[in-house]
Amino acid sequence: MKNNYQIETKCVQGGYTPGNGEPRQIPIIQSTTFKYESSAEMGKLFDLEASGYFYSRLQNPTCDTVAAKICEMEGGSAAMLTSSGQAATFFSVFNIAGAGDHIISSSTIYGGTFNLFAVTMKRMGIDFTFIDPDCTEEELNAAFRPNTKAVFGETISNPALVVLDIEKFANAAHAHGVPLIIDNTFATPVNCRPFEFGADIVTHSTTKYMDGHGAAVGGCIVDSGKFDWNAHADKFPGLTTPDESYHGITYTERFGLGGAYITKATAQLMRDLGSIQSPQSAFLLNMGLESLHVRMQRHCENAAAVARFLEGHEKIAQVNHASLPSCKYYALAKKYMPKGTCGVISFCIKGGRDAAEAFMGHLKLAAIETHVADARTCCLHPASSTHRQMNDAELLAAGVSPDLVRLSCGLESADDLIADIAQALDQI
Ligand SMILES: *Cc1c(COP(=O)(O)O)cnc(C)c1O
Repeated sequence: MKNNYQIETKCVQGGYTPGNGEPRQIPIIQSTTFKYESSAEMGKLFDLEASGYFYSRLQNPTCDTVAAKICEMEGGSAAMLTSSGQAATFFSVFNIAGAGDHIISSSTIYGGTFNLFAVTMKRMGIDFTFIDPDCTEEELNAAFRPNTKAVFGETISNPALVVLDIEKFANAAHAHGVPLIIDNTFATPVNCRPFEFGADIVTHSTTKYMDGHGAAVGGCIVDSGKFDWNAHADKFPGLTTPDESYHGITYTERFGLGGAYITKATAQLMRDLGSIQSPQSAFLLNMGLESLHVRMQRHCENAAAVARFLEGHEKIAQVNHASLPSCKYYALAKKYMPKGTCGVISFCIKGGRDAAEAFMGHLKLAAIETHVADARTCCLHPASSTHRQMNDAELLAAGVSPDLVRLSCGLESADDLIADIAQALDQI
Protein backbone atom coordinates (compact mmCIF):
# COMPACT_ATOMS: atom_id res chain seq x y z
CA MET A 1 0.00 0.00 0.00
CA LYS A 2 1.39 3.42 -0.91
CA ASN A 3 2.24 5.74 1.90
CA ASN A 4 0.11 8.73 0.90
CA TYR A 5 -3.11 7.37 2.42
CA GLN A 6 -4.42 9.03 5.58
CA ILE A 7 -3.87 7.29 8.93
CA GLU A 8 -7.53 6.12 9.02
CA THR A 9 -7.09 4.23 5.75
CA LYS A 10 -3.80 2.73 6.89
CA CYS A 11 -5.50 1.49 10.11
CA VAL A 12 -8.12 -0.36 8.09
CA GLN A 13 -6.24 -1.56 5.01
CA GLY A 14 -2.50 -1.17 5.65
CA GLY A 15 -0.06 -4.08 5.48
CA TYR A 16 -2.20 -6.48 3.47
CA THR A 17 -3.60 -6.35 -0.06
CA PRO A 18 -5.12 -9.71 -1.06
CA GLY A 19 -4.81 -10.95 -4.62
CA ASN A 20 -7.60 -12.41 -6.73
CA GLY A 21 -9.50 -15.08 -4.78
CA GLU A 22 -7.39 -14.65 -1.66
CA PRO A 23 -8.86 -14.19 1.86
CA ARG A 24 -10.17 -10.69 2.61
CA GLN A 25 -9.12 -11.01 6.27
CA ILE A 26 -5.45 -11.68 7.01
CA PRO A 27 -4.62 -15.41 7.11
CA ILE A 28 -3.44 -16.87 10.43
CA ILE A 29 -0.40 -18.93 9.52
CA GLN A 30 -0.41 -21.18 12.57
CA SER A 31 2.74 -23.09 11.63
CA THR A 32 6.05 -23.30 13.46
CA THR A 33 7.95 -24.30 10.34
CA PHE A 34 8.01 -24.02 6.55
CA LYS A 35 8.84 -26.63 3.87
CA TYR A 36 11.65 -26.40 1.27
CA GLU A 37 12.61 -28.55 -1.72
CA SER A 38 16.34 -28.55 -1.05
CA SER A 39 18.87 -27.95 1.71
CA ALA A 40 20.61 -25.47 -0.55
CA GLU A 41 17.50 -23.27 -0.65
CA MET A 42 17.16 -23.40 3.10
CA GLY A 43 20.85 -22.58 3.48
CA LYS A 44 20.32 -19.33 1.60
CA LEU A 45 17.63 -18.33 4.10
CA PHE A 46 19.95 -19.04 7.02
CA ASP A 47 22.66 -16.90 5.42
CA LEU A 48 20.13 -14.09 4.83
CA GLU A 49 20.94 -14.39 1.10
CA ALA A 50 17.29 -15.03 0.26
CA SER A 51 14.27 -13.82 2.21
CA GLY A 52 11.63 -16.32 3.32
CA TYR A 53 10.29 -18.09 6.36
CA PHE A 54 11.86 -21.12 7.99
CA TYR A 55 11.00 -21.08 11.70
CA SER A 56 8.37 -19.05 13.55
CA ARG A 57 10.68 -18.25 16.46
CA LEU A 58 12.33 -15.73 14.13
CA GLN A 59 9.59 -14.66 11.75
CA ASN A 60 6.02 -15.58 10.89
CA PRO A 61 3.98 -14.28 7.91
CA THR A 62 0.94 -13.26 10.01
CA CYS A 63 3.13 -11.29 12.39
CA ASP A 64 4.95 -9.65 9.49
CA THR A 65 1.66 -8.61 7.85
CA VAL A 66 0.56 -6.84 11.03
CA ALA A 67 4.04 -5.34 11.57
CA ALA A 68 3.85 -3.96 8.01
CA LYS A 69 0.56 -2.21 8.88
CA ILE A 70 2.01 -0.60 12.01
CA CYS A 71 5.08 0.37 9.97
CA GLU A 72 2.86 2.23 7.49
CA MET A 73 0.89 3.87 10.30
CA GLU A 74 4.08 5.23 11.89
CA GLY A 75 5.63 6.13 8.53
CA GLY A 76 8.63 3.85 9.09
CA SER A 77 10.92 1.76 6.87
CA ALA A 78 10.72 -1.63 8.69
CA ALA A 79 8.99 -3.13 11.73
CA MET A 80 8.71 -6.30 13.78
CA LEU A 81 6.21 -7.63 16.32
CA THR A 82 7.36 -8.92 19.71
CA SER A 83 5.68 -11.01 22.39
CA SER A 84 5.11 -8.01 24.68
CA GLY A 85 5.82 -4.33 25.07
CA GLN A 86 8.60 -5.23 27.50
CA ALA A 87 10.29 -7.37 24.83
CA ALA A 88 9.99 -4.49 22.34
CA THR A 89 11.62 -2.03 24.75
CA PHE A 90 14.39 -4.48 25.62
CA PHE A 91 15.17 -5.35 21.98
CA SER A 92 15.04 -1.71 20.88
CA VAL A 93 17.86 -0.80 23.26
CA PHE A 94 19.83 -4.06 23.40
CA ASN A 95 20.03 -4.10 19.58
CA ILE A 96 22.44 -1.14 19.72
CA ALA A 97 23.89 -1.25 23.25
CA GLY A 98 25.77 -3.80 25.36
CA ALA A 99 28.00 -4.12 28.41
CA GLY A 100 29.99 -0.94 28.93
CA ASP A 101 27.48 1.29 27.13
CA HIS A 102 25.28 4.06 28.49
CA ILE A 103 21.69 5.14 27.76
CA ILE A 104 19.86 8.35 28.69
CA SER A 105 16.20 7.85 29.57
CA SER A 106 13.43 10.16 30.65
CA SER A 107 12.78 9.54 34.36
CA THR A 108 8.99 9.50 33.95
CA ILE A 109 8.56 6.16 32.19
CA TYR A 110 6.42 3.09 32.68
CA GLY A 111 7.33 1.25 35.91
CA GLY A 112 8.10 -1.98 34.03
CA THR A 113 10.49 -0.11 31.75
CA PHE A 114 12.18 1.51 34.74
CA ASN A 115 12.81 -1.92 36.32
CA LEU A 116 14.02 -3.34 33.00
CA PHE A 117 16.55 -0.50 32.67
CA ALA A 118 17.58 0.16 36.26
CA VAL A 119 17.74 -3.45 37.45
CA THR A 120 17.86 -6.08 34.71
CA MET A 121 19.76 -4.27 31.96
CA LYS A 122 22.06 -2.74 34.57
CA ARG A 123 22.98 -6.33 35.53
CA MET A 124 23.93 -6.82 31.87
CA GLY A 125 26.45 -3.99 32.21
CA ILE A 126 24.47 -1.15 30.63
CA ASP A 127 24.38 2.12 32.56
CA PHE A 128 21.34 4.40 32.57
CA THR A 129 20.99 8.07 33.42
CA PHE A 130 17.39 9.04 34.24
CA ILE A 131 16.66 12.66 33.43
CA ASP A 132 13.67 14.91 34.20
CA PRO A 133 11.78 15.20 30.88
CA ASP A 134 11.17 18.90 31.62
CA CYS A 135 14.94 19.53 31.88
CA THR A 136 16.65 22.33 29.94
CA GLU A 137 18.63 21.63 26.75
CA GLU A 138 21.83 22.31 28.73
CA GLU A 139 20.95 19.72 31.37
CA LEU A 140 20.07 17.20 28.67
CA ASN A 141 23.30 17.78 26.73
CA ALA A 142 25.33 17.44 29.94
CA ALA A 143 23.99 13.90 30.47
CA PHE A 144 25.80 12.49 27.40
CA ARG A 145 28.99 10.46 27.74
CA PRO A 146 31.37 9.13 25.07
CA ASN A 147 29.75 5.66 25.47
CA THR A 148 26.11 6.89 25.22
CA LYS A 149 24.28 4.84 22.56
CA ALA A 150 20.68 6.06 22.64
CA VAL A 151 18.11 8.35 24.26
CA PHE A 152 14.73 6.96 25.41
CA GLY A 153 11.40 8.52 26.35
CA GLU A 154 7.59 8.08 26.21
CA THR A 155 5.33 10.34 24.10
CA ILE A 156 2.89 10.44 27.04
CA SER A 157 4.29 8.77 30.12
CA ASN A 158 2.47 6.07 32.04
CA PRO A 159 1.28 6.83 34.73
CA ALA A 160 2.60 10.41 35.20
CA LEU A 161 1.01 11.64 31.91
CA VAL A 162 4.00 13.85 31.12
CA VAL A 163 4.09 14.93 27.44
CA LEU A 164 7.64 14.63 26.09
CA ASP A 165 9.16 17.47 24.06
CA ILE A 166 10.21 15.06 21.32
CA GLU A 167 12.09 17.67 19.25
CA LYS A 168 14.19 18.74 22.26
CA PHE A 169 15.18 15.11 22.89
CA ALA A 170 15.76 14.35 19.17
CA ASN A 171 17.99 17.39 18.68
CA ALA A 172 20.14 16.49 21.68
CA ALA A 173 20.41 12.83 20.60
CA HIS A 174 21.41 13.77 17.04
CA ALA A 175 23.92 16.38 18.21
CA HIS A 176 25.68 13.50 19.99
CA GLY A 177 25.38 11.01 17.13
CA VAL A 178 22.83 8.65 18.69
CA PRO A 179 19.18 7.78 17.92
CA LEU A 180 16.07 8.75 19.89
CA ILE A 181 13.82 5.81 20.80
CA ILE A 182 10.22 6.70 21.64
CA ASP A 183 7.65 4.47 23.35
CA ASN A 184 4.49 5.67 21.57
CA THR A 185 2.07 3.33 23.39
CA PHE A 186 -0.27 5.92 24.92
CA ALA A 187 -0.56 8.30 21.95
CA THR A 188 -0.60 5.64 19.20
CA PRO A 189 0.26 6.72 15.62
CA VAL A 190 -3.31 7.98 15.29
CA ASN A 191 -2.56 10.87 17.63
CA CYS A 192 1.23 11.25 17.26
CA ARG A 193 3.83 10.03 14.79
CA PRO A 194 7.17 10.64 16.55
CA PHE A 195 9.19 10.19 13.31
CA GLU A 196 7.65 13.47 12.06
CA PHE A 197 9.38 15.22 14.98
CA GLY A 198 12.80 13.60 14.62
CA ALA A 199 12.51 10.33 16.57
CA ASP A 200 14.44 7.44 14.97
CA ILE A 201 12.86 4.30 16.46
CA VAL A 202 9.39 3.80 17.91
CA THR A 203 8.24 1.03 20.26
CA HIS A 204 4.76 -0.02 21.35
CA SER A 205 3.04 -2.12 23.92
CA THR A 206 0.33 -3.27 21.49
CA THR A 207 -1.41 -4.70 24.58
CA LYS A 208 -2.88 -1.24 25.16
CA TYR A 209 -4.88 0.86 22.66
CA MET A 210 -3.73 -1.01 19.55
CA ASP A 211 -5.35 -4.22 20.79
CA GLY A 212 -7.82 -2.12 22.75
CA HIS A 213 -9.99 -4.96 24.06
CA GLY A 214 -7.78 -6.46 26.75
CA ALA A 215 -7.37 -9.60 24.63
CA ALA A 216 -3.69 -10.16 23.76
CA VAL A 217 -0.29 -9.10 25.12
CA GLY A 218 2.11 -7.89 22.42
CA GLY A 219 4.70 -5.37 21.30
CA CYS A 220 6.14 -3.77 18.19
CA ILE A 221 9.32 -1.97 17.10
CA VAL A 222 9.37 0.37 14.09
CA ASP A 223 12.49 1.88 12.50
CA SER A 224 12.28 5.22 10.67
CA GLY A 225 15.21 4.20 8.46
CA LYS A 226 16.53 7.75 8.84
CA PHE A 227 19.29 7.34 11.40
CA ASP A 228 22.67 7.19 9.65
CA TRP A 229 24.48 4.36 11.46
CA ASN A 230 27.40 4.65 9.03
CA ALA A 231 28.00 8.30 9.96
CA HIS A 232 28.60 7.10 13.55
CA ALA A 233 30.03 3.70 12.68
CA ASP A 234 32.42 3.64 15.66
CA LYS A 235 29.44 3.76 18.06
CA PHE A 236 27.43 1.03 16.33
CA PRO A 237 29.84 -1.72 15.23
CA GLY A 238 27.04 -4.31 15.49
CA LEU A 239 25.34 -2.70 12.49
CA THR A 240 28.34 -1.46 10.52
CA THR A 241 30.90 -4.29 10.79
CA PRO A 242 30.59 -7.98 9.79
CA ASP A 243 28.38 -10.25 11.96
CA GLU A 244 30.36 -13.48 12.29
CA SER A 245 27.23 -15.32 13.46
CA TYR A 246 25.79 -14.60 9.99
CA HIS A 247 28.77 -15.42 7.77
CA GLY A 248 30.22 -11.96 7.86
CA ILE A 249 27.14 -9.98 6.79
CA THR A 250 27.35 -6.24 7.47
CA TYR A 251 23.74 -5.20 8.14
CA THR A 252 23.97 -1.60 6.88
CA GLU A 253 25.73 -2.74 3.70
CA ARG A 254 23.33 -5.58 2.88
CA PHE A 255 20.01 -4.09 4.04
CA GLY A 256 20.62 -0.34 3.81
CA LEU A 257 19.69 2.24 6.43
CA GLY A 258 16.01 1.30 6.04
CA GLY A 259 16.45 -2.39 6.85
CA ALA A 260 19.64 -2.83 8.90
CA TYR A 261 18.26 -2.22 12.41
CA ILE A 262 15.16 -4.46 12.19
CA THR A 263 17.02 -7.21 10.29
CA LYS A 264 19.68 -7.32 13.01
CA ALA A 265 17.04 -7.41 15.77
CA THR A 266 15.30 -10.30 13.98
CA ALA A 267 18.41 -12.24 12.97
CA GLN A 268 20.23 -11.95 16.29
CA LEU A 269 17.82 -11.09 19.11
CA MET A 270 14.76 -13.08 17.96
CA ARG A 271 17.02 -15.98 17.03
CA ASP A 272 18.70 -16.01 20.44
CA LEU A 273 15.96 -14.76 22.77
CA GLY A 274 12.80 -15.90 20.98
CA SER A 275 10.21 -13.28 21.94
CA ILE A 276 7.91 -13.69 18.94
CA GLN A 277 4.21 -12.82 19.08
CA SER A 278 1.87 -15.71 18.35
CA PRO A 279 0.06 -15.55 14.97
CA GLN A 280 -3.28 -15.73 16.82
CA SER A 281 -2.36 -12.70 18.91
CA ALA A 282 -1.20 -10.85 15.80
CA PHE A 283 -4.59 -11.55 14.18
CA LEU A 284 -6.41 -10.12 17.23
CA LEU A 285 -4.07 -7.13 17.19
CA ASN A 286 -4.94 -6.47 13.56
CA MET A 287 -8.65 -6.50 14.41
CA GLY A 288 -7.92 -3.85 17.02
CA LEU A 289 -5.91 -1.75 14.57
CA GLU A 290 -8.82 -1.72 12.10
CA SER A 291 -10.84 0.47 14.49
CA LEU A 292 -8.00 2.24 16.33
CA HIS A 293 -8.67 5.65 14.75
CA VAL A 294 -12.38 5.50 15.67
CA ARG A 295 -11.69 4.30 19.21
CA MET A 296 -8.90 6.80 19.98
CA GLN A 297 -11.19 9.71 19.17
CA ARG A 298 -13.83 8.39 21.58
CA HIS A 299 -11.32 7.52 24.33
CA CYS A 300 -9.99 11.10 24.12
CA GLU A 301 -13.46 12.70 24.10
CA ASN A 302 -14.56 10.67 27.12
CA ALA A 303 -11.35 11.47 29.03
CA ALA A 304 -11.68 15.18 28.26
CA ALA A 305 -15.32 15.19 29.43
CA VAL A 306 -14.49 13.34 32.66
CA ALA A 307 -11.46 15.60 33.27
CA ARG A 308 -13.64 18.74 32.86
CA PHE A 309 -16.20 17.36 35.30
CA LEU A 310 -13.56 16.46 37.90
CA GLU A 311 -11.78 19.80 37.60
CA GLY A 312 -14.89 21.59 38.83
CA HIS A 313 -15.64 19.16 41.68
CA GLU A 314 -15.19 20.27 45.29
CA LYS A 315 -13.78 16.92 46.47
CA ILE A 316 -11.01 16.85 43.83
CA ALA A 317 -7.63 18.42 44.60
CA GLN A 318 -6.02 18.10 41.18
CA VAL A 319 -6.70 16.65 37.69
CA ASN A 320 -4.10 15.67 35.07
CA HIS A 321 -5.09 15.41 31.41
CA ALA A 322 -3.44 17.43 28.66
CA SER A 323 -6.85 18.38 27.20
CA LEU A 324 -7.30 20.82 30.13
CA PRO A 325 -5.91 24.33 29.50
CA SER A 326 -4.84 24.30 33.17
CA CYS A 327 -2.56 21.31 32.50
CA LYS A 328 1.19 21.93 32.50
CA TYR A 329 1.49 19.96 29.24
CA TYR A 330 -1.41 21.59 27.36
CA ALA A 331 0.86 23.52 24.93
CA LEU A 332 3.16 20.55 24.23
CA ALA A 333 0.14 18.34 23.64
CA LYS A 334 -1.34 20.87 21.19
CA LYS A 335 1.94 20.79 19.25
CA TYR A 336 2.57 17.05 19.19
CA MET A 337 -1.01 15.71 19.45
CA PRO A 338 -3.46 18.26 18.00
CA LYS A 339 -6.17 15.57 17.61
CA GLY A 340 -6.03 14.52 21.29
CA THR A 341 -3.69 12.66 23.64
CA CYS A 342 -5.11 9.50 25.24
CA GLY A 343 -7.97 8.24 27.38
CA VAL A 344 -5.99 7.97 30.60
CA ILE A 345 -6.37 10.66 33.24
CA SER A 346 -5.20 10.90 36.82
CA PHE A 347 -6.51 12.92 39.74
CA CYS A 348 -6.02 13.48 43.45
CA ILE A 349 -8.89 13.19 45.88
CA LYS A 350 -9.15 15.47 48.91
CA GLY A 351 -8.86 13.31 52.02
CA GLY A 352 -5.78 11.38 50.93
CA ARG A 353 -5.14 7.67 50.61
CA ASP A 354 -8.27 6.50 52.50
CA ALA A 355 -10.59 8.72 50.47
CA ALA A 356 -9.01 7.49 47.20
CA GLU A 357 -9.49 3.83 48.16
CA ALA A 358 -13.06 4.43 49.38
CA PHE A 359 -13.95 6.33 46.19
CA MET A 360 -12.75 3.47 43.99
CA GLY A 361 -14.73 0.97 45.99
CA HIS A 362 -17.94 2.87 45.18
CA LEU A 363 -17.42 2.90 41.39
CA LYS A 364 -19.73 0.59 39.45
CA LEU A 365 -18.61 0.97 35.82
CA ALA A 366 -14.84 1.33 36.35
CA ALA A 367 -13.26 -1.95 37.34
CA ILE A 368 -10.15 -1.99 39.53
CA GLU A 369 -7.44 -3.42 37.25
CA THR A 370 -3.72 -3.28 36.50
CA HIS A 371 -4.47 -2.25 32.95
CA VAL A 372 -5.18 0.80 30.80
CA ALA A 373 -6.38 1.53 27.28
CA ASP A 374 -9.20 -0.99 27.31
CA ALA A 375 -12.66 -0.51 25.76
CA ARG A 376 -13.99 -0.90 29.32
CA THR A 377 -13.19 1.84 31.84
CA CYS A 378 -10.76 0.76 34.53
CA CYS A 379 -8.99 2.40 37.42
CA LEU A 380 -6.04 1.85 39.70
CA HIS A 381 -4.80 3.26 42.99
CA PRO A 382 -1.03 3.09 42.44
CA ALA A 383 -0.17 3.68 46.12
CA SER A 384 -1.91 0.45 47.18
CA SER A 385 -1.04 -1.65 44.10
CA THR A 386 1.77 -1.02 41.58
CA HIS A 387 3.69 1.23 43.99
CA ARG A 388 2.65 -0.62 47.16
CA GLN A 389 6.20 -1.24 48.39
CA MET A 390 6.87 2.51 48.71
CA ASN A 391 6.14 4.61 51.81
CA ASP A 392 4.43 8.01 51.44
CA ALA A 393 7.73 9.92 51.11
CA GLU A 394 9.00 7.57 48.39
CA LEU A 395 5.65 7.82 46.59
CA LEU A 396 5.92 11.61 46.43
CA ALA A 397 9.48 11.38 45.05
CA ALA A 398 8.19 9.03 42.33
CA GLY A 399 5.47 11.54 41.40
CA VAL A 400 2.74 9.23 42.69
CA SER A 401 0.99 10.85 45.62
CA PRO A 402 -0.96 8.58 48.03
CA ASP A 403 -4.27 10.19 47.01
CA LEU A 404 -3.71 9.70 43.24
CA VAL A 405 -6.18 7.66 41.18
CA ARG A 406 -5.44 6.62 37.57
CA LEU A 407 -8.55 6.27 35.43
CA SER A 408 -8.48 4.82 31.93
CA CYS A 409 -11.64 6.08 30.24
CA GLY A 410 -13.19 3.43 28.01
CA LEU A 411 -15.69 3.64 25.19
CA GLU A 412 -18.87 3.80 27.29
CA SER A 413 -21.17 6.84 27.34
CA ALA A 414 -19.37 9.83 28.90
CA ASP A 415 -22.62 10.73 30.69
CA ASP A 416 -22.76 7.31 32.35
CA LEU A 417 -19.08 7.49 33.36
CA ILE A 418 -19.53 10.95 34.89
CA ALA A 419 -22.71 9.89 36.72
CA ASP A 420 -20.86 6.88 38.15
CA ILE A 421 -17.94 9.02 39.31
CA ALA A 422 -20.33 11.60 40.78
CA GLN A 423 -22.20 9.03 42.88
CA ALA A 424 -18.91 7.54 44.12
CA LEU A 425 -17.64 10.99 45.13
CA ASP A 426 -20.95 11.73 46.89
CA GLN A 427 -20.39 8.71 49.14
CA ILE A 428 -17.01 9.80 50.51
C1 LIG B 1 2.19 -1.53 29.36
C2 LIG B 1 3.31 -0.71 28.87
C3 LIG B 1 4.53 -1.29 28.50
C4 LIG B 1 4.80 -2.77 28.66
O1 LIG B 1 4.01 -3.48 27.77
P1 LIG B 1 3.57 -5.03 27.99
O2 LIG B 1 2.84 -5.32 26.73
O3 LIG B 1 2.74 -5.07 29.22
O4 LIG B 1 4.83 -5.82 28.14
C5 LIG B 1 5.52 -0.47 28.01
N1 LIG B 1 5.32 0.87 27.88
C6 LIG B 1 4.16 1.47 28.24
C7 LIG B 1 4.01 2.95 28.08
C8 LIG B 1 3.12 0.70 28.75
O5 LIG B 1 1.97 1.31 29.11
